[in-house]
Amino acid sequence: MSNTLPKIELHLHLDCSLSYDIVKKIAPNITENVYKASFIAPPKCTDLADYIERAISGVKLMQTKEQLKLVTLDLFDQLKKDNVIYAEIRFAPLIHLDKGLTPEEVVETVNDAMTIGMETSGVKAGLILCTLRHFSEEQSMRTIKLVEQFKGTNVVGFDIAADEAGFPIANHVTAFQRAKRKNISCTAHAGEAKGPESVWETLTNLYPKRIGHGVRSYEDKNLVNFLKEKNIHLEVCPTSNIQTNVYDRLEDHKINEVYNEGLSISVNTDARTISNTTLENEYTILKDKFGWTKMHFFKCNMEAIDHAFTSNEIKAEIKSKLIEAYQK
Ligand SMILES: [Zn+2]
Repeated sequence: MSNTLPKIELHLHLDCSLSYDIVKKIAPNITENVYKASFIAPPKCTDLADYIERAISGVKLMQTKEQLKLVTLDLFDQLKKDNVIYAEIRFAPLIHLDKGLTPEEVVETVNDAMTIGMETSGVKAGLILCTLRHFSEEQSMRTIKLVEQFKGTNVVGFDIAADEAGFPIANHVTAFQRAKRKNISCTAHAGEAKGPESVWETLTNLYPKRIGHGVRSYEDKNLVNFLKEKNIHLEVCPTSNIQTNVYDRLEDHKINEVYNEGLSISVNTDARTISNTTLENEYTILKDKFGWTKMHFFKCNMEAIDHAFTSNEIKAEIKSKLIEAYQK
């Protein structure tokens, strides 16, 4: 049903989405079995920290300009095949410095590769730079300053990712305050490894316009009302949430409840390789488990583009494509 339907993806990690083809090209010694064992997470990880372990394999292969370019272009190929028409791709520039690149060179390389990827694939996209939970205050500030430096290019926003349960947000408050002062759009991972209290903490201290995951907000009625009132969008990633044990089984996932509550949500893969999925696959799961129809996906895609960190011009262009495809 949704096979040919165009899609929007707002929550997608570059370093967690390397196809086997590109891994083989960068590191010919990595066999398909090794790839499956070390780049893809099992259907059940112990927790979020265990899931994130798989990202290390990808990050190791993204340390030179050539590697960063190849991985970025590879992701655009995957997006095109998945009929994603607008994507926001995120990564943490400061973990790509092992072979001597400067943070500016890292961002510049991915930024330029994105321009090429967009031209050749026709997929529109923006780049979000992430700070990580375990980073120092200085590293977080360094990352927000990169967003500022590259404002007006493909770089459109700022995020905090990594182990929510293992590290507090204290080191990152100053960077997000700076983002607010400079009018930089922010999203933040929360309500994934921890419950509603973490979403509240994130909303009050980091002022994001969107929450990465955030599905556990459903456990707190006041929070649900607050999210609605402030029009805060949740970037939901079903398969990833089962792997990291937010819920035991897909049947237990609260996406359907959150949708029915009228919250603004979108469907995302999070990590195409680690979760071994595509957006098409996530749609199929929702169709099978919760009886979602074209109408559900239309609503989620319209919400996604409404909350995207892009120009009104691109939003209008993408919306008309969605309307044409879904309301036919
Ligand atoms: Zn994520």
